[in-house]
Amino acid sequence: MDPIEKVLERREGPLTLGQADGVQCRTVEIFESFGIGDELLRASYHVLEVVFWTEDSPGVIKRTGRTPDTQPGFSHQPHGILNQARVNKLLLDAMHRFNKQEVDYGYDIKHLEVDSQQAKDPSAYPVKVITRKDGRIVQFEAKYALAREVKLEDLQHTAKNILSQYDVDFTDTIWWSAYPIGQRHADSFHEDYRVFLAGDACHTHSPKAGQGMNVRLQDGYNIGWKLASVLKGLTPPSLLKTYVLERRKTAIDLINFDRYFSKLFSSTAKTSPQEFQKGFIQAGKYTAGLTAKYDRSPIVSDMDETQGLATNVVVGMRLPSAQVVRFCDSKPLQLMTVLKSDGRWRLIAFAGDITLTVNQDRLRALGNYLMSVESPMRRFAPGGGGDIDSLIEPILVAYGNRHEIELDQVPESFYPISGKHKVHDLHKILFDDESYSKSHGHLYEYLGMSPQNSSIVIVRPDQCKQGVLSSSLGENECESEPRVNDLPTFTLSRHLF
Ligand SMILES: Cc1cc2nc3c(=O)[nH]c(=O)nc-3n(C[C@H](O)[C@H](O)[C@H](O)COP(=O)(O)OP(=O)(O)OC[C@H]3O[C@@H](n4cnc5c(N)ncnc54)[C@H](O)[C@@H]3O)c2cc1C
Repeated sequence: MDPIEKVLERREGPLTLGQADGVQCRTVEIFESFGIGDELLRASYHVLEVVFWTEDSPGVIKRTGRTPDTQPGFSHQPHGILNQARVNKLLLDAMHRFNKQEVDYGYDIKHLEVDSQQAKDPSAYPVKVITRKDGRIVQFEAKYALAREVKLEDLQHTAKNILSQYDVDFTDTIWWSAYPIGQRHADSFHEDYRVFLAGDACHTHSPKAGQGMNVRLQDGYNIGWKLASVLKGLTPPSLLKTYVLERRKTAIDLINFDRYFSKLFSSTAKTSPQEFQKGFIQAGKYTAGLTAKYDRSPIVSDMDETQGLATNVVVGMRLPSAQVVRFCDSKPLQLMTVLKSDGRWRLIAFAGDITLTVNQDRLRALGNYLMSVESPMRRFAPGGGGDIDSLIEPILVAYGNRHEIELDQVPESFYPISGKHKVHDLHKILFDDESYSKSHGHLYEYLGMSPQNSSIVIVRPDQCKQGVLSSSLGENECESEPRVNDLPTFTLSRHLF
């Protein structure tokens, strides 16, 4: 059964006018992984170029430079502009399509508390939420809550203090938003790991770089799959500690970045147009949302055995993407589009050039292991006769001319019987190869991998790399005990959380 969620919102209906509109490349990638990237791209303006101007003489400005808005190679998705209300609407529609999830409007949360004793029992509902709806008090009990904390009364109080030499009365408030341009983050992002803060509730900064809505959405993206996994009983509640660990670090990075970026923009800073332009371009990867790096934790391994075999693959960061070609129908697609946000982990075998005997042997050994009873795919697949790939999906990305390979040279673990119709799923076999109409993606080169070698990348449900293993083992060793054995066990075994 899917976890039951309640989304409470004080407003009487959906947002009609938001303040934010800058949508980072990373946010577009995430929307794509939920199957709503095309809608977002269709609706939004795509920012392709930035032009720099400076004052030439009083009242006259001149152009000092131009740059691509997103430097080539950062992301296959553009930076978009779409009002926050329309971004919200896309998400609301997707929620409805997915499981008929709705928002309950008109609930003003007045009080929220956690019973710390009860919080120790994973099956308890220790969070009490007291709301006011149509003048009545309505109370909810929850296992977990994701919250924001600012109240209108706080804001009115602050306004009165600032204007204390005047009498200020508030007769009506049509629209408001608390957006203190202070550079702060909350001391604590949780209470008893049952109530979690996200967005402006736990990090505030200037709106200069257009980060707040994006980071807020990514806070939700980080905790979403974890909460679902815990509530479905797939992982123990301690998984939620990694939300605090990871997003607190992201918030600190954001505030440090905002200090730097605000100073760059500040009229008092003695920055030349050239220095400004250089600083702006250097910040581009950050503002595109592509630099978040999570520290070691039970779900970010410090195993990086590649020793330079995959130089552009950093454990704890999003997996960079380039075009690959699907083996079964020659369709060119971005690797990232295969990594859907459906709660599954991925084991991506970068098997190299599999016309080479050594790589073919390694691939066969890995395939045998993945189908064996020790396979993490089998051991961690939820019970009840579910598909073998329902929690860990294997994906093969080979290098070279796909037409030199026949399907029977690929282990069946990469096209297992699964899905509604219980047929072989051929969509998991990809090649870094020339496509018919869209040239070559050069993924191996982009990731810093050699086709002579092979490696395995474990990707979390949020497209972040959990670990990288080299599979360049001696042939015999590989056949007898493939090293991949260690990693999913390490990642997913319950007692390690
Ligand atoms: C001028 C300006 C421009 C900006 N531009 C950008 C941009 O281009 N890109 C970008 O990424 N960010 C931008 N931001 C920042 C962005 O708007 C915020 O960071 C983002 O909206 C934060 O999202 P949130 O969900 O944390 O809070 P909010 O968007 O404020 O949402 C909180 C929700 O909780 C509801 N709520 C509050 N209290 C209660 C309660 N007691 N009970 C029930 N419901 C409650 C509110 O009604 C609201 O719907 C900008 C901000 C400003 C001020």
